[in-house]
Amino acid sequence: MNDVILAARGVRKRFGDTEVLRGIDLEVRAGEVLCIIGPSGSGKSTLLRCFNHLERIDAGRIRVDGELVGYEPHGPSGERLRERRPRDIRRQRERIGMVFQRFHLFPHRTAVQNVMEGPVAVKGLSRAQAERQARELLDRVGLADRADHYPDRLSGGQQQRVAIARALAMQPTLMLFDEPTSALDPELVGEVLGVMRDLARSGMTMIVVTHEMGFAREVADRVLFMDQGAVVEAGHPDEVFTAPRHDRTRAFLSTVL
Ligand code: ADP
Ligand code: MG
Repeated sequence: MNDVILAARGVRKRFGDTEVLRGIDLEVRAGEVLCIIGPSGSGKSTLLRCFNHLERIDAGRIRVDGELVGYEPHGPSGERLRERRPRDIRRQRERIGMVFQRFHLFPHRTAVQNVMEGPVAVKGLSRAQAERQARELLDRVGLADRADHYPDRLSGGQQQRVAIARALAMQPTLMLFDEPTSALDPELVGEVLGVMRDLARSGMTMIVVTHEMGFAREVADRVLFMDQGAVVEAGHPDEVFTAPRHDRTRAFLSTVL
């Protein structure tokens, strides 16, 4: 049985003259939580965006659930590889839930309408089915009593929990989080991390870019430290946090712990 959900090999990405990802290899198995840490500008967001087709990679391979996402424009013997078709891209994106620093909720729709939108528009669920599922998901993120509120009546932490429910409504096989608590007031961080912790315990496969080292230490199965577009080291949180092997990891941890 192949339980690898995401596999990246030799992923490279440049913006102009800057090589932002310099050959990234990583693998995430079903049910695993991988936390990615690293200084600002090290390429963490770009990497997540490549996983979700929001950026096109220059070289390497990315497979999600065994299916190719990224591709090399030229194969090993120089042949031009087939581009992903828009239909494939859409289908693959549906299986990946993404939660960003900013919540991007539709301001003129209530919480429950925000969560229903994807399943109705993309999966063809009836409004009644989608609403039932959306209310269940809002209950799961602790917002049953806020389901009919508009985003501007919700705190940042509540909005982010709606965004998580919205991603889950698409029944993703993989959830990507890009600094989901960085835009929140400190007193609201805990409620969002709590929802993410529950999600991890429920067996969801997750890749989480975060500066919350306590969360990474407690919830991650593996922590990966990135710097300047490369994976410097990866391992169990106990290893990476208490006995980092590289000076760069040590230096970074000393600034955030
Ligand atoms: P991180 O998330 O680790 O802070 P990013 O992936 O956002 O890092 O950025 C990595 C580098 O790529 C930075 O130097 C950033 O300025 C650059 N970068 C990111 N997106 C773009 C873009 N669309 N165009 C040009 N440069 C970009
Ligand atoms: Mg980032």
